[in-house]
Amino acid sequence: MRDFTSFDDIFSRPPNDNFELLKAWAGTTLAFAIMQTGASNLLSGEFVTNLIVAAIVAGIGFVLHELAHRVVARGYGAQAHFMANDRWLLLSILISFLGVFIAAPGAVWHRGKLNIRQSGIIALAGPVTNLVLSVLFLFLFIPVIVLRPLWFDLWITICYVGFRFNAWIGLFNMIPAGPFDGAKVLAWDWKVFAVTVAIGVGLTFLLSDSALSGVLQTLARMF
Ligand SMILES: [Zn+2]
Repeated sequence: MRDFTSFDDIFSRPPNDNFELLKAWAGTTLAFAIMQTGASNLLSGEFVTNLIVAAIVAGIGFVLHELAHRVVARGYGAQAHFMANDRWLLLSILISFLGVFIAAPGAVWHRGKLNIRQSGIIALAGPVTNLVLSVLFLFLFIPVIVLRPLWFDLWITICYVGFRFNAWIGLFNMIPAGPFDGAKVLAWDWKVFAVTVAIGVGLTFLLSDSALSGVLQTLARMF
């Protein structure tokens, strides 16, 4: 989506990546927390809790996704910058009042001599980061349940939202069309594409809420 600036502008006048990432993090956090709380409920304490959870889970899910693209692109010697998409961020905040969350914080732009394999790996790095985060949040349930730390309920929410949110974002970005990462991964290697999608589908759909809570209750009884 190059709707607000030209491709060359990004490299002749590079954005302040950290500021752009901060904007994307703040906007995404706000939109996700509003969507989760519901517009009529924003003066409640629940909104504060949801903001904390969103800042940790949604924010980090996006920031690490974009940083992964940037790290790999620069590793191949390309120039790469993250640019927040202000218009879509504002729109996503407005739409969150309707109970809908759209994920469009911005993108990493890269320029340099890259072959189809390198582009594919740069694209793959984003969704893989989310799938790994999803698994990490899932495993984080274990120490939380065993150790029962302070703010136990908040920890459980962070684990749950972190697991679900990252699985979904990882899978969503593997859509093999348009500006999505999946298009470049598929263009490089259909087998890598298929395995990544299979893992995304598994994490997103195979473990139902009731199965998950069954496992967690068994775990809680054991300790
Ligand atoms: Zn991406």
